[in-house]
Amino acid sequence: MDDEPERTKRWEGGYERTWEVLKEDESGSLKATIEDILFKAKRKRIFEHHGQVRLGMMRHLYIVVDGSRTMEDQDLKPNRLTCTLKLLEYFVEEYFDQNPISQGPVNSNMAFWVGIIVTKGKRAEKLTELSGNPRKHTAALKKAVDMSCLGEPSLYNALNLATQTLKHMPGHTSREVLVIFSSLTTCDPSNIYDLIKCLKAVKIRVSVIGLSAEVRVCTVLARETGGTYHVILDESHYKELLMQHVSPPPACSSSESSLIRMGFPQHTIASLSDHDAKPSFSMAHLENSSEPGLTLGGYFCPQCRAKYCELPVECKVCGLTLVSAPHLARSYHHLFPLDAFQEVPVEQYNGERCCQGCQGEIKDQHVYICNVCRSVFCVECDLFTHDTLHCCPGCIHKHPVPPCL
Ligand SMILES: [Zn+2]
Ligand SMILES: [Zn+2]
Ligand SMILES: [Zn+2]
Repeated sequence: MDDEPERTKRWEGGYERTWEVLKEDESGSLKATIEDILFKAKRKRIFEHHGQVRLGMMRHLYIVVDGSRTMEDQDLKPNRLTCTLKLLEYFVEEYFDQNPISQGPVNSNMAFWVGIIVTKGKRAEKLTELSGNPRKHTAALKKAVDMSCLGEPSLYNALNLATQTLKHMPGHTSREVLVIFSSLTTCDPSNIYDLIKCLKAVKIRVSVIGLSAEVRVCTVLARETGGTYHVILDESHYKELLMQHVSPPPACSSSESSLIRMGFPQHTIASLSDHDAKPSFSMAHLENSSEPGLTLGGYFCPQCRAKYCELPVECKVCGLTLVSAPHLARSYHHLFPLDAFQEVPVEQYNGERCCQGCQGEIKDQHVYICNVCRSVFCVECDLFTHDTLHCCPGCIHKHPVPPCL
């Protein structure tokens, strides 16, 4: 029984069918078009970040990794599994640490949580629980290299497992699943279209990155839940598609509220010479006994004094979201992203072709101009400014102090 209407046709542009735009050049090579697609994807990311009023600043993301037999394919080097795990390690690092200014006792972004699910042999299981601690995920990904790939994946079981946890996350946070799908088939114990309706109802956004070819159920899944669906061209395209998920998605307009009460606990350390200090359990220990047991100090909820070992966390007693103040500060550039620079063809540009970023001569087809200070940049500096710096060097040079002072 399949009553899902096929609404999105290619000409409606619902998603990118990259394989259809591939063309050979005179020498029969695909290289030029692939480079063009990669270049456009990078620039597109800059444009997408600009102008969104509300972003999901609190994210719960499950990454579903296909662990089926097809992950042994060697079209990615050395094979799909190893390549995927390596890219995911990089992804986790970027997801939690987008800002080069490192500080604070906890090395994680403001209020982002990730969990990893593996599906193989018709089953799905959690590799890591939802956690704001990138070290756990990185360690698990490193270990998973020795994992044996077997049987078929189960999209249903994996999504169902993610839903069981995600549906309990607060309604004002963004709930997402990112599926890395290598197989062309899925073994589902029940009708997946019913599950897609559930996902849509509880506002879980599912995006898919395909490693083989388009699979219809993924098309429907991404379209119905408001996610994206792309099929990779090669490893660098794969990396680029993953990186698109590093930045927060636009907050869904019907999410419950935009005002969230937050607590900013400071890390309290009891000195060993203080004989009145009593060790205590953290709340995380109640759920997961692999967490450290009795410890001195920790983060104490300012509202109910419950203790936690790491931030960010949703207080299990009073529900207050606990984050560290530096995390919030680091999220600033998501809230106020730098406007995209204007792309001008070199022929139409009369000024000096010297990049204000690297001071090099601009040799590309286009120059990139800041709309505020009119500084000119090369494409590399344009990308660096938007991806890493998050502010225009030209503007800072002209206004070293904010104009209001
Ligand atoms: Zn509390
Ligand atoms: Zn430059
Ligand atoms: Zn500027």
